[in-house]
Amino acid sequence: MTLRRLPLHALVVVLASTGPAAAANYTTANFSVSAPTEALARQFGDMAEHYRREKAQQWLGQEMPNWPRRCPLEVKIAAGGAGGATTFTFGGDGSRGVVTSQHMEIHGPARQLLDSVLPHEITHTVLAHHFGRPVPRWADEGGSVLSENDEERFNHDVRNRELLNAGRGIRLSVLFRMAEYPRDMIVLYAQGYSVSAYLVERGGNGVTGRQRLLQFLAIGMQGGDSRNHGTVESWNQAARQVYGVNSLDALEEQWLNALKSPPSRVAARGDRAPATPTAATPVSRPAVDPVAVRSSAAPVVPVLEPPVRAARGTAPEREPLPGTRTTPAERPVPVLLPPEFPRN
Ligand SMILES: [Zn+2]
Repeated sequence: MTLRRLPLHALVVVLASTGPAAAANYTTANFSVSAPTEALARQFGDMAEHYRREKAQQWLGQEMPNWPRRCPLEVKIAAGGAGGATTFTFGGDGSRGVVTSQHMEIHGPARQLLDSVLPHEITHTVLAHHFGRPVPRWADEGGSVLSENDEERFNHDVRNRELLNAGRGIRLSVLFRMAEYPRDMIVLYAQGYSVSAYLVERGGNGVTGRQRLLQFLAIGMQGGDSRNHGTVESWNQAARQVYGVNSLDALEEQWLNALKSPPSRVAARGDRAPATPTAATPVSRPAVDPVAVRSSAAPVVPVLEPPVRAARGTAPEREPLPGTRTTPAERPVPVLLPPEFPRN
């Protein structure tokens, strides 16, 4: 879509419309929104800017400067499940990666999009801009789920425990290096959320806890290749340096122990952050060097019962599955109780 140059402040451009999904456009400082109606376009544009400020402050301690190019945001209102996907292209001169383009698409009931999917997707943009390169999937999704509302986080906590109890957990030494979604995709969301929440809490919660997690990721990611974020040694190093734990395995043990006792509350949320839920859907594209393309779009969601509401949309394409499949021997099998519903 061609970006129209518009004066500083947002204004609405009603297009001739090619369908109900994009009847109106609304442009803000950082987003170019298309939605079924003018009112919706304006509402989503304003909320996108709101979450963009809020999520940046929660993670980075400050707002992000305006992006050089507006991020297209396609809003499709539909009944049924909600989901979204944000695709990034990364470039840079080698010393410092940057996001060179981004595109966001969300679909579902308006309420759920505003309350959940949008803040989740916006969190992806904060992480992408901070690192200037693809973020390990478990933290990219786990960190974004942290932005979701109490109910969604609770659901992820429950699902994480169920998966661990069922022997479907993935060892952190494997999970942390995954550059793509595992076949057992819901594990990445649920476990990624659980570990992210644990680490944020362990790091002191709030901006401090999140910045420690970012630090942990920056160190852990070092020395990887196109298929792996970092190495076992780089993650061990990150565990030592940031959390004072000898190894990733030791950190894993502490995370599992924390889940066992007490029956855990739903972890660190974005301090008084409004709600947010889910995310990802479709359109995955292969990474290209030196310009990497990354989408938060998840591959096909596995069939699970009972269905997980938080299992965002489905995706039309499957992403490649590098050597990331786990074997039974790689999975921890702790026995965990269901979490208590958070109170606050
Ligand atoms: Zn996501």
